Amino acid sequence: FLEINRLHKQYGNVEVLKGVDIAIEEGGFLVLVGPSGCGKSTLLNTIAGLEGITSGEISIDGTVVNDLHPSKRDIAMVFQSYALYPSMSVAENIAFGLEMRGVSKAEREEAIQGVAGMLQIEHLLKRRPGQLSGGQRQRVAMGRALVRDPKLFLFDEPLSNLDAKLRVDMRTEIKRLHQKLGTTIVYVTHDQIEAMTLATQIAVLKDGILQQVGSPDEVYSKPANMFVADFMGSPT
Ligand code: ATP
Ligand code: MG
Repeated sequence: FLEINRLHKQYGNVEVLKGVDIAIEEGGFLVLVGPSGCGKSTLLNTIAGLEGITSGEISIDGTVVNDLHPSKRDIAMVFQSYALYPSMSVAENIAFGLEMRGVSKAEREEAIQGVAGMLQIEHLLKRRPGQLSGGQRQRVAMGRALVRDPKLFLFDEPLSNLDAKLRVDMRTEIKRLHQKLGTTIVYVTHDQIEAMTLATQIAVLKDGILQQVGSPDEVYSKPANMFVADFMGSPT
């Protein structure tokens, strides 16, 4: 469903992605892990079309999207730094994409209530982003992505600002949602438990090169090299 072939990305003359190959089937949940600065966000940004690529090919649902504008890719992304519209209320932020697509007010209301309940932000709907905590903003950004019902979700550490309890709740919700909707997901996290519980496939990236892609069990119990073993905390 999502296919990435020999993807290279340079910033100036620094190569950040050095020939990445990934294939995810429809409904797959790929969790991308790796040390800070290894290129995870860059990879998501190139899939979304927010960053151009130096060479290679990205295709979604059978279509090469290399030259396709981000808005035409039918992707919803939750960023590491959640970008909300500061002058709009939480409810308006969540419904923005739906309004653009001409969804009726009644349906928008229903969609807002649905995700707000799930994300435990019903009481915040009338506030502006400036009046929210980091974790609350993160959930609003998640809500905005969820109501859009895209072909592909890209999540960049969406739970990193939440407290332990909320993290576990949200992890369970994401898993339930993925099972229900069957949407294809690429998800970046630094949290090992999140990776092991959510993923159908784990991809381990180091310095712009994929070290291993496999099921959580494979990557954990049959690490391809010392780096993966070390990073995944595999038993020795
Ligand atoms: P983290 O886990 O800290 O979020 P990451 O794996 O997401 O890290 P990226 O944000 O993809 O890492 O960055 C990969 C490398 O590319 C880093 O060395 C970073 O400094 C560099 N980089 C990112 N964006 C740019 C840019 N716009 N211009 C130049 N270099 C960049
Ligand atoms: Mg990042």
